[in-house]
Amino acid sequence: MQTPMIDYLHQLVESVGEDGGEVASYIPELAQADPDRLAIAIATLDGEVYVAGNADDEFTIQSISKPFTYALAIADRGLESVLEHIDVEPSGDAFNEISLDPETGRPLNPMINAGAIASHALVKGDGAEGRTERILDLYSRLAGRELSIAEDVFESELSSADRNMALAYMLRTVGTLEGEPADVVRGYTRQCSASVTVRDLARMASVLAAGGRTPQGDQVLDPAVNRQVLSVMATCGMYDSAGDWLTSVGIPAKSGVAGGLMGVLPGQVGLAAFSPRLDPHGNSTRGVRLFERMNRDMGLHLMNATESGRSVWRRTVREGVPTHEIVGDLQLIESERVVRGFAEEPVGESPVIIDLDRVHTANDIARRVVLEGIRRLHVDGHDVRLVDPSGVLGTAETGSGELVRGEQARGGYVPTSFPDVASAIAG
Ligand code: GLN
Repeated sequence: MQTPMIDYLHQLVESVGEDGGEVASYIPELAQADPDRLAIAIATLDGEVYVAGNADDEFTIQSISKPFTYALAIADRGLESVLEHIDVEPSGDAFNEISLDPETGRPLNPMINAGAIASHALVKGDGAEGRTERILDLYSRLAGRELSIAEDVFESELSSADRNMALAYMLRTVGTLEGEPADVVRGYTRQCSASVTVRDLARMASVLAAGGRTPQGDQVLDPAVNRQVLSVMATCGMYDSAGDWLTSVGIPAKSGVAGGLMGVLPGQVGLAAFSPRLDPHGNSTRGVRLFERMNRDMGLHLMNATESGRSVWRRTVREGVPTHEIVGDLQLIESERVVRGFAEEPVGESPVIIDLDRVHTANDIARRVVLEGIRRLHVDGHDVRLVDPSGVLGTAETGSGELVRGEQARGGYVPTSFPDVASAIAG
């Protein structure tokens, strides 16, 4: 059997209909690009990539580079320092608007060119080449293959980069730009000229969707940095159509003038489309339409409120031993359900097994809540036997019962660990 996902994508590409809009002409080389190309890709968090259309055609990443370079700037300089240079407010302006906050002098956000040029300048590295090398290295790790620069597009854009030069000089006058304007614009233009396919973009998006982690388990971006980037994409990624986009399509996204469009649904998928003709906002006309269709057909919307936590816990009695089986990824709501289950356990001295064999991740609050539940079972008299082969609880020391704390308190109860339920039953 072939998975229906591939057929769905082919049907989507075939049914997207007539194109409208114009290819970007302010970068001469882009005006040469075949405007009829069309491609789409979906990447799951465990590494499957489904594609349709001209999926192996390369095009330049352009503004889709901005969220990734912003991530590197934060990783290099720390969030506080980056926020001193670049704000995070939606501007409602076009991508290349010559605008800065009248009071602070900062660009309004890192997704418009002014903010993106400032982010590029904050990346550590020796001049334009040094910065671009580190930036390209990050993009490559995210894409899972070595990317390169489309030199022809780079030369072409640099030869007509007057507007970005104007932005860089303006940033320097207000003290927001680190470095020489010409060198920064050169590096920024090189970053925009990284050559990608929809496959690459979908895979890069899937890493953002997975909290900065690749399917191979490489934590490329710190989860807090990743969250900052996604937040800014959600509010500012689509420039002056950001509000319309978030309400109607609901997928944090970033577009580029070469016709690429990348979307991230946190915890679910990475999406990408490519079609060079652009609407008046500078977003790919058919790319936008494909995203609208995917949203409708697949129920993809950031604000779709789904209830989680219902089926994470159940209690069985295995050979006379009460066993609390926990399944799925644990965040606050799931861990609340789990400890509500623990609370049903009658007080007594019987052993109790906590089986976390089918839990892959638990965030910090979930870990603390479950450990506190274990401590309370122990206080009730139970000998708690823990099965946690992936170590999602970390060092399973419960702490003292103090719930409001920054760090895991020491000096609590440590349940006995077993590799599996059978040995936990045997005791
Ligand atoms: N390199 C382009 C520019 O700076 C990127 C703009 C875009 O993709 N929207 O003008």
